[in-house]
Amino acid sequence: MRPVMETYSGTCHCGAVRFTFRTREISSAMLCDCSICSRRGAGLTPETIPPADMHITAAPGTLKTYQFGTKTAQHHFCGTCGIHTFVETRLNPGHYRVNLGCIKGLDALRLPSEIYDGQNL
Ligand SMILES: [Zn+2]
Repeated sequence: MRPVMETYSGTCHCGAVRFTFRTREISSAMLCDCSICSRRGAGLTPETIPPADMHITAAPGTLKTYQFGTKTAQHHFCGTCGIHTFVETRLNPGHYRVNLGCIKGLDALRLPSEIYDGQNL
């Protein structure tokens, strides 16, 4: 059976970074306990999103990227409002997980969540 795919859209807080993506219907949040995610506290999409299913529109110069450690993962955020919008993951470079709090119409804080053992990745 093919999973039901949904289209979601989201923005950073100020609206300079906008995006739409397709994924399975989001019914849970992934929380990760790695050094950056535990500080940020944002729930992420449980599925990674392939680049073909992710469309990003950002005002020129607004999308910033933070990297650390192996410099594989790319933690993207808005340089104007500072909100982390999505990450290109370390295990699947070029594929995204999105900050659920940025998604329009999603009650992100009330989704059930699972904690991912990113600390021991
Ligand atoms: Zn912003």
